[in-house]
Amino acid sequence: MVIGGGLSGLIAARELVKQGKTVTLLEAKSTIGGRMVNQKVAGGGVIDLGGQWGGKTHYRLEALSEELKLKRYPSYYEGKGVFIWNGKSYTTDLFNDFWRSIGFSNPDDIDLPEKEKEAALQLWNELFEISKSISVEQPWTSPNAQVLDATPVSQWLLERNAAPLAQWMFGWICRGNGAQVFEPYESSMLHLAWSMAVAPPNETAEDWLFYKGAGEVAKIIANELGSRIILNAPVFKIDQDSSGLTVIYGDCKTVRAKTAVVAIPPPLRLNIQFNPPLPPRFVQLMRRTPMPSKWKVLAVYPTAFWRDQGYCAAGSGNLDVLEQTADACPPEGNPGIIASFVSGNKIGGFSQLSHQEQRALVLKDLAAYWGPQAKEPIELVIVRWTEDAWIGGGYGVTRSTGAWTAFGSGWQDDHGKVFWAGTEQSTRWPGYFEGAIEAGLAAVKRLNAVLA
Ligand SMILES: Cc1cc2nc3c(=O)[nH]c(=O)nc-3n(C[C@H](O)[C@H](O)[C@H](O)COP(=O)(O)OP(=O)(O)OC[C@H]3O[C@@H](n4cnc5c(N)ncnc54)[C@H](O)[C@@H]3O)c2cc1C
Repeated sequence: MVIGGGLSGLIAARELVKQGKTVTLLEAKSTIGGRMVNQKVAGGGVIDLGGQWGGKTHYRLEALSEELKLKRYPSYYEGKGVFIWNGKSYTTDLFNDFWRSIGFSNPDDIDLPEKEKEAALQLWNELFEISKSISVEQPWTSPNAQVLDATPVSQWLLERNAAPLAQWMFGWICRGNGAQVFEPYESSMLHLAWSMAVAPPNETAEDWLFYKGAGEVAKIIANELGSRIILNAPVFKIDQDSSGLTVIYGDCKTVRAKTAVVAIPPPLRLNIQFNPPLPPRFVQLMRRTPMPSKWKVLAVYPTAFWRDQGYCAAGSGNLDVLEQTADACPPEGNPGIIASFVSGNKIGGFSQLSHQEQRALVLKDLAAYWGPQAKEPIELVIVRWTEDAWIGGGYGVTRSTGAWTAFGSGWQDDHGKVFWAGTEQSTRWPGYFEGAIEAGLAAVKRLNAVLA
């Protein structure tokens, strides 16, 4: 039995079928794929509403795309980027080394006081050094873990008299440029450093794209699994006994299984009533493991007009709504597609606006980065992940300040015949597709060891 039809659950089910086992996959929604879902748009294009990029060291995802015969192409990084600071726009080269970057940009091209840039980069380096000392499996055992976990990122910055540029850089990385999305006052230096250790930014997480969109992966695997998948089947109770499990889902339907791989976003595990119950400390950890606030914006244009002007659509800066943009086009730039995000607490006020007002603010920021043409998309899609009841946000979970050291030690522990999967279970690229694959396969391995 597999619960959750995102990439991780699909991979687990596929692996069990490969091993000749009987599998049923229960998915709460009427669609498959979870955070991996694509859609056709104007101009003959395809967009991914959730995850999209593969990274340089996402070897499992790469191998899977080859197995499924899905073609890939490199992300477009030719040309200049743009960095915007307090309303002023700088055309820049992209960074070569993440740990000497401001947003996506080379700091040498940003005309701000050298002292302020260097001070910010020094703090960046301090973070890098801490990240090298973090245990990815047991972060609470890392050097100085207690102090680091008791220190919100914002406090750490204040203690170092960080200027606004450094504060923004840390906010940007916390909110936007890793899988762990949080405001700097919501999580600790230990968690930030851990997120850098498990998903190293220098390994280029946005290196390549799928021709037909990443969502195609989920569709193909779902097709292979066929009638083993039951949609509209939210699981709300799992009873364990000496011979197996009784899983109760949907309109009080019941199914028996020997074991279950549960591949749903971690905080949603608490929506399921487990008997025997989950250990209290594990429950406390889940309560400190929220799905972060993340919306995705996809603006579609007839062509990638920015490429003709020598840009690659890599934008970053302290704008009101969009702190980063990226080129998400097919290789020939036709249609032109820019991906962007509304992140963290910016969503609070933004979500209270009408859809028309949200659209106007998004277009204003896109135009600030890429000029007046950016105000005229042929289609603008805003994906409000926080409003998806069965996922709750993105990219992947985060942990609140102090959670790792107080409650973390059982974070990967299975629960009897219930084996946890889902991207967040992984210690290599959690929050990414790569982590989802690893976690799905690892859950099957553990399950086999118990059944053997
Ligand atoms: C906006 C956004 C951008 C992203 N960009 C990237 C990217 O570029 N590259 C990358 O590698 N990753 C990216 N990610 C992350 C990536 O999409 C996820 O890490 C991955 O898809 C998670 O897969 P999963 O199977 O672990 O979880 P999910 O995809 O969340 O699947 C879990 C499934 O469980 C179901 N479920 C929940 N509760 C129940 C229940 N009680 N009973 C039955 N079913 C239930 C849900 O409906 C869902 O289908 C992004 C994510 C988002 C949101």
